[in-house]
Amino acid sequence: MDNCIFCKIANGEIPSATLYEDGDFRVILDLGPASKGHALILPKTHAANLYELPDELAAKAMVLAKKMGAKLSGALGSDGLNVVQNNGKAAGQTVFHFHIHLIPRNQGDGVGVSWTPGKLTDEVKEEILSKIHA
Ligand code: 5GP
Ligand code: ZN
Repeated sequence: MDNCIFCKIANGEIPSATLYEDGDFRVILDLGPASKGHALILPKTHAANLYELPDELAAKAMVLAKKMGAKLSGALGSDGLNVVQNNGKAAGQTVFHFHIHLIPRNQGDGVGVSWTPGKLTDEVKEEILSKIHA
């Protein structure tokens, strides 16, 4: 993808604060961090979202999230970690090159990775189960 900023960052054409790099991925610090240490895992090949990402890279990306999440949390002394991955504008995706957010968390930090819980009704539950199992 010629015009994709994350392709350029992942492949080193645009400099970034790189925490880790291998043949498949680059892990960088987010320029608009939700918390101290907020990092992004970028594959070096273009995939717009999770659905376009080859299975092999999807599997490797989750293993890398585990490894880098532990490293970041250990280095910064964080209490927790959110692993966030947005697909589609409606879900908050703003850069259409697959990426995983690693967001270190601390007790009471007020970082907004949350929602107001609803209530699963029997009607909706049955509707979803029948659609998924159809
Ligand atoms: P999304 O909303 O697509 O899940 O996340 C995009 C993320 O990329 C945002 O957290 C934003 O701050 C970050 N971002 C956007 N452009 C750049 C950039 O040029 N460099 C870096 N390091 N992060 C970026
Ligand atoms: Zn790209």
